[in-house]
Amino acid sequence: MALRVQKYGGTSVANIERINCVADRVQKAFDEKDQVVVVLSAMSGVTDSLIALAKQAAERPDRRELDVLLATGEQTTAALLAIILKSRGYKAKSFLGFQAGIKTDKTSGKARILDINCKNIQTSLDEGYICVVAGFQGADEDGAITTLGRGGSDTSAVAIASSLKADVCEIFTDVDGVYTTDPRICSSARKIKKISYEEMLEMAILGAKVLQIRSVEFAKKYNVPVHVRSSFNEEEGTMVVNESADMESVIVSGITCDMNEARITLKRVPDQPGISAKIFSPLAKAEISVDMIIQNTRTGGDTDLTFTVTKDDFDRALEITEKVAKEVGAEEVITAEEIAKVSVIGLGMKSHSGVAATMFEALASENINIRMISTSEIRISCVILAKYAELAVRTLHSAFGLDQIK
Ligand code: ASP
Ligand code: MG
Repeated sequence: MALRVQKYGGTSVANIERINCVADRVQKAFDEKDQVVVVLSAMSGVTDSLIALAKQAAERPDRRELDVLLATGEQTTAALLAIILKSRGYKAKSFLGFQAGIKTDKTSGKARILDINCKNIQTSLDEGYICVVAGFQGADEDGAITTLGRGGSDTSAVAIASSLKADVCEIFTDVDGVYTTDPRICSSARKIKKISYEEMLEMAILGAKVLQIRSVEFAKKYNVPVHVRSSFNEEEGTMVVNESADMESVIVSGITCDMNEARITLKRVPDQPGISAKIFSPLAKAEISVDMIIQNTRTGGDTDLTFTVTKDDFDRALEITEKVAKEVGAEEVITAEEIAKVSVIGLGMKSHSGVAATMFEALASENINIRMISTSEIRISCVILAKYAELAVRTLHSAFGLDQIK
């Protein structure tokens, strides 16, 4: 007998017909003598419509009450699945986040899980119940409902799996698993059978939307085996697990493309101690996170400084930078063309050299100019013009042989 946590995303519970299909799967696992905890998202589109509704009620809806509202999306699906399972003669019980023992901090809309105690669920499992939990939510120390950020049901599921020491946390979604790159851009993209937490984390940060970033951090920290798979077929998906020796033999496991960044350049900044601090401190104070930074020193005592921020933060970042530029005596602030960040990711980079050279040569062969470069232990990213993004992804995918490996 295994203990399985199964999480179903919005498209998998989009209507009663789909929730009935979820019930079929849950029922099958239960009939095979497994203990099953189901974690659900809201029906697809519901969270967005609830946000829109709140914005009709007030221009800036109170964040505490917004969380109360948003949590109802998951409350609805959890109750519906429990109703269906019971009507089929199964013992089932629904749990809201706080009933499942999920305690969070007080950051409305983006709360972090501080503690989780699944004793209620464990007792019900031992009594032979199928437990259905509303994802995406918890409660703070005062009992106020909180939500865990968009895509947060993934994190609910991983947290519950870790607390119950489940054998596996299955994330059922509308894709077959994690791919070597976006199949919509590159038709030879392949499903990855097994990927390490570290690689998955880089992929999630770079915009592969299959898993919420926090859920991967959580899984990595508590060593929860995660199986990302489709709720529309029976095929095996992608296992996200601890790194193992065989993984390092694959030098590059995935290529990502992030179109969500924008670039700001300060021309001719005085080359003196303290200038970078003057530029980046106000951005940090405004909670704008800066991704890549490059500085070119030239003779003559000044330097050009370029950095990237997300498109969401761009307007605010530009306003702040223009103000600081005047204070530090920079010549001008320029905002470059639309950019894309293409990255190659792989554990094998730790032990193999030449990955950067292969990447640069591949881009050069298509005449794609590299504007910025950044690296981590298992990733190399290049900023290029957005119009070359798809070509770059396809070129890199074949340069690293990703279309061939079975
Ligand atoms: N319903 C929430 C969202 O749309 C949480 C989730 O689906 O994981 O972001
Ligand atoms: Mg999701």
